[in-house]
Amino acid sequence: MNAEGSSLRASRGESAVRFRFAPSPTGALHIGNARTALFSFLWARRLGGHFILRIEDTDRGRYDPESESALLDDLHWLGLDWDEGPDRGGPFGPYRQSERAGLYARALEELVARDRAYPCFCTPEDLARRRAEDLARGRPPRYDGRCRLLPPEEVRRRLEEGALAAWRFRLVEGPPLVFDDLVYGPHSVARSLLDDFVLARADGTPTFLFANALDDASMGITHVVRGVDHLDNTPRQLLLFEAWGRPPPAYAHLPLVHGLDDTPLAKREGTGRLASYRSRALRPEALRAYLLHLGHTPTHEEGLLGEAAGTLFNPARLGRAPAHFDETQLRLWQERALALLDPPSFRRWLGGVLDRPPDDLLLVQRAEALRTVSVWAEDARAWWAILDDPPLPPRGWVPEDDFRTVMGAAVALDPEDEFHDFVHALAARTGRRGRALYLPLRLALTGRTEGPELATLWPVFPPQRRRALLARALASLSTDA
Ligand code: GLU
Repeated sequence: MNAEGSSLRASRGESAVRFRFAPSPTGALHIGNARTALFSFLWARRLGGHFILRIEDTDRGRYDPESESALLDDLHWLGLDWDEGPDRGGPFGPYRQSERAGLYARALEELVARDRAYPCFCTPEDLARRRAEDLARGRPPRYDGRCRLLPPEEVRRRLEEGALAAWRFRLVEGPPLVFDDLVYGPHSVARSLLDDFVLARADGTPTFLFANALDDASMGITHVVRGVDHLDNTPRQLLLFEAWGRPPPAYAHLPLVHGLDDTPLAKREGTGRLASYRSRALRPEALRAYLLHLGHTPTHEEGLLGEAAGTLFNPARLGRAPAHFDETQLRLWQERALALLDPPSFRRWLGGVLDRPPDDLLLVQRAEALRTVSVWAEDARAWWAILDDPPLPPRGWVPEDDFRTVMGAAVALDPEDEFHDFVHALAARTGRRGRALYLPLRLALTGRTEGPELATLWPVFPPQRRRALLARALASLSTDA
């Protein structure tokens, strides 16, 4: 775990609970899955249990090899660490589904041997046609079970002939499937609503439903925290646990995180990608504080950016309303997080943004001024460039007369003066005060109408540079507007 994340380190006892985060490395981590990971991690720590990272990379078509390492890096940056995972091993490994093919194959054989799974020879085209027919008749599309009744000799013959077969779970009668979701409450699903779902495709790869449940079972997972888009998968996964004679984990489904336009973040390009905020120098504690408001209401706001922020996660305060990702809220947390940094920490943040050592002289000199205007990296960089080379003051913001009077007096004063002495003298000479006094100065020094506190800006410029900027502003007035 990096230093930033140390605030999340909490005592890990010897409780038996086991939580996991099981991302598919098919793209960058976004705010939604960062939230799932954080809540799962904090919940595990709260109960003194273990947190496991598992990579669900069975869908090789969508697999992006780069994204696994980016994902681990994002999670570390967020301050999470895991007790078992692909990079550190553990007693239930391997922790990448692509390395667990043998386990899935054996589990499938075992279900076949017990007649709880059977081959299905229906082609994808047949299935699609029957599905379309179901839909046309207004019926929920379900597998009609035609291969479950094939005589064993025919099954054997077809398999020997090398016919392609997917493998389906054989549903058996029984009481409704009940579970008490830790967020969405009690559920009861009649088996008649389910069909014989696919466990493994004709190419032998396991489906999500199968691999995910088998991993949870074989890794001893006791709590599953995941997006509510998986709620419908739960009853079918419960059937698998039942067939294996194992107690299922407790499930906590989280409402999806939507963009402000109401589409889920997971389905969008760009918006909400963690990488884009990291490149803008987002503070991890700001993101954590913000995430604790997405589908969760902290009891209070104090301490959300501090050492013990993690303890403000309380599963009893998870909600079901769809959460909306609002960048202005994230920005607020970023502002608050930066405001809490002590000067050396702020200089480290700034150094990272500007690619300069935090004790770089210029950086130390400018840090205080930049602090008043920086929220994202781009703000700090833009202001750095302005301080390097302030643009000419634009006209029209102050009456020419005020500007001329203030600049005329300013160039005659001693630029060595401290800021307060300087403005004091300037006010006395010109009779101007407030905006009529300060705005010309600000415009002369930065070419901008708004920006860092003037008192922090003054020491940024060496005296000769101050005088030159004031003189340049005065001269600009004599040229035609
Ligand atoms: N790989 C699945 C996902 O990323 C995980 C679902 C689960 O946590 O069970 O949505």
